[in-house]
Amino acid sequence: MIATRRAREATAVQGSSADEAEPDRDAARRAAVATRDRSADGAFVYAVRSTRVFCRPSCPSRPRVDRIGFFATPAEAAAAGFRACRRCRPAG
Ligand SMILES: [Zn+2]
Repeated sequence: MIATRRAREATAVQGSSADEAEPDRDAARRAAVATRDRSADGAFVYAVRSTRVFCRPSCPSRPRVDRIGFFATPAEAAAAGFRACRRCRPAG
């Protein structure tokens, strides 16, 4: 009984629009940054609002996670006014 109900809920979640805010995805990105997850490098970059710099998830700099935003690519972060970090060189 319980398994059937869970399957229905999973289907409903998959129907959400990709353009809407996705708290679960951002939570996963924050976790990747917090743990310097190298497997996340290339999947996204994070941008620190206070310094206007963007980094790879594995960058050794330790931002406050409540002050960061995410971009899918370095080009998007640069277009938004951020510059590439010199330590992790997210732009390649
Ligand atoms: Zn960096």
